[in-house]
Amino acid sequence: MTQAATLVKSRLEGGQYRVRFVNPQEHYRRLKAEIDGAIFDCLENGDLIHRKQLFDFEKNLAAYAGTKYAVGVNSGYHALLFSLIAKNIGPGDEVITVGHTFAATVSAIVHCGAVPILVDVAKDFNMDPEKLEAAITSKTKAVIPVHLNGRVCPMDEIMRLAQKHNLAVVEDAAQALGAIFQGTMGGAFGDAGCFSFYPFKALGGFGDGGAVTTNDPDVARIVTLLRYNGEDRDTGEFYYHGQTALLDNVQAAVLDVKLRHFPFWVAHRRRLARLYQEDLADVKEVALPHFLGQEHQDSYQNYVIRTERRDDLRSHLKDSGIETLVSWPTPMWHHKGLNLGPWNLPETESICREALSLPMNAEVTEEDVGIIARAVRDFFN
Ligand SMILES: *Cc1c(COP(=O)(O)O)cnc(C)c1O
Repeated sequence: MTQAATLVKSRLEGGQYRVRFVNPQEHYRRLKAEIDGAIFDCLENGDLIHRKQLFDFEKNLAAYAGTKYAVGVNSGYHALLFSLIAKNIGPGDEVITVGHTFAATVSAIVHCGAVPILVDVAKDFNMDPEKLEAAITSKTKAVIPVHLNGRVCPMDEIMRLAQKHNLAVVEDAAQALGAIFQGTMGGAFGDAGCFSFYPFKALGGFGDGGAVTTNDPDVARIVTLLRYNGEDRDTGEFYYHGQTALLDNVQAAVLDVKLRHFPFWVAHRRRLARLYQEDLADVKEVALPHFLGQEHQDSYQNYVIRTERRDDLRSHLKDSGIETLVSWPTPMWHHKGLNLGPWNLPETESICREALSLPMNAEVTEEDVGIIARAVRDFFN
């Protein structure tokens, strides 16, 4: 089930929650004046496609991410697909990514014609460089590290291996806006950084959206062509068979408003994470997502705990009025329709059994964290 379908289902079954996993109504209420202004500006001026609001947002996103360029597209999936195509990845090539990611990461590899190779993750849910190195063959042309849950992968090691083996690096930064490793933001290390503005990402629109960040003018140019049917709109020349995949101008206007608030939301998430840590530190049945490494500043897109009694804890929290999410209950390659063949990735399999995402977003309050932590403690007592 998709994340959205899971939420709808739990809403139907669950009745009133005290703490919702996401709260789009409250999110909108807090920003209503600014957002309404930005949307009505677009509507009144007829700024619907490929206008100033899109270009402004791209400029501001690039400045925030610390890259030369950002190109808006209509989803994180398209950001990944276009980045791979821009790096000339196609039939006959192998692309290495992790087993523990959203299906879109792997679908982008399949749809550019390459073969996805899945490797296992480490305890921090992210790509293990040793597993990456062991999977490299003469056919490997690219690697997609996935910065999951708002934590950047060990990009020093991954970039070193990529340089040694001449691999393109396309970062799946869909969950990593605002996350930092060694002073650099996720999405600014490799050839391309791929962001998603799906409504429940830390920076989310009112529908689908995405972007590619890059320092490479060729990647920026090719993605810009691919998103708009392959045509250079200044000259009318078609360079590729592209797609219809622009980031909508109205979405860009909304995202540009939200981007101004975004650094405060990241600070809020870090504060909530510290509170969870304080409140749950002595619950020995639960592993918390606080990992070693001074050089990491995680942004906590998700706050994912692990416990062997995950499903029972989840029911208990639901009965206590607390909505949670499991991402993802089934390893991706177990879905027969994806045709990914068998893989042996024990850490990914155990995460699928043990991981539980607790409420974590800009609308969750410090008091909410107290309520949630108390319910978790009650369960284990
Ligand atoms: C959300 C997400 C994507 C896909 O983004 P969409 O905008 O939904 O296409 C890809 N990878 C990861 C890790 C994600 O969380």
